[in-house]
Amino acid sequence: MKKFFFFFVVAVVFCGRGLGEDHAALATRVVVLGTGNPSADPERWGPAVAVVVNDRAYLIDCGPGVVRRAAAAEKNGIAALKAKELKIVFVTHLHSDHTVGYPDLIFSPWVLGRKEALEAYGPRGLKNMTAHIEKAWTEDVRIRQGGLEQANATGYKVHVHEIRAGVVYRDSNVTVTAFPVRHGIWKEAYGYTFETHDRKIVISGDTAPSDEVVKACDGCDLLLHEVFNPHGEELKEEHWKEYFRTFHTSPSELGEIARRARPKLLVVYHQSLEKLPESDLVEQIGKEYSGAWVSGRDLGVY
Ligand SMILES: [Zn+2]
Ligand SMILES: [Zn+2]
Repeated sequence: MKKFFFFFVVAVVFCGRGLGEDHAALATRVVVLGTGNPSADPERWGPAVAVVVNDRAYLIDCGPGVVRRAAAAEKNGIAALKAKELKIVFVTHLHSDHTVGYPDLIFSPWVLGRKEALEAYGPRGLKNMTAHIEKAWTEDVRIRQGGLEQANATGYKVHVHEIRAGVVYRDSNVTVTAFPVRHGIWKEAYGYTFETHDRKIVISGDTAPSDEVVKACDGCDLLLHEVFNPHGEELKEEHWKEYFRTFHTSPSELGEIARRARPKLLVVYHQSLEKLPESDLVEQIGKEYSGAWVSGRDLGVY
């Protein structure tokens, strides 16, 4: 009996360790929660991406619908995207299409049980934006905490970290580096590099063609890059032409950036379709770039 018990304990210990090792070796996944932009396209929700490492999710941007999109990904089997597990976000810039979901990310996971404050990294101005959001929902926080909901006193808070280019975050899963990109008249807009145990992932954010993206990727595993369709009617107007030229990246510019950056896989996201079918944009990119690439889909896992 004693002997049996010993084997039982050894078996449990080994199985336990085995599970732990498998857990540690989980491949890094990138979930594109929303591939959209300001257009109210029901097929493409607001810009938001999740890098998932060892069952922890790191969000990049919080476009409209971010928490529900995360819940949809959770339903698809990615447990790290459960609402109350959304604890950290890296904001590329403060354009509203990338931040309209910020109050959602601050308050919904709290209502759903998150106890930790949200850790939010991003450009200067994020502190100011956060302070205004906290103020705007003061009554909600008071009612939920003081009333029958008995909400916790911590999970709606935000620790804001206004960043500069360079390493902005590091833990046992990931090192996150911010790099500046060119996004028209925005003084600060960033792309991010995520380096994990098995992958190097670069996310352009919104940008006109930028050497910094090429430098950051340099043969990376995955490059998520934005693009616009220059065939759009709007682009006949001078101010829109100038806007897209200085704020965003055309298919031919994307081709050149990708050739120089040499990603193992390019995922095209934040697609400004300009009321034209996706196939029109896909055809243009296909002519400009012969490396491995895909047109990003909402809830796509790469
Ligand atoms: Zn945008
Ligand atoms: Zn933008």
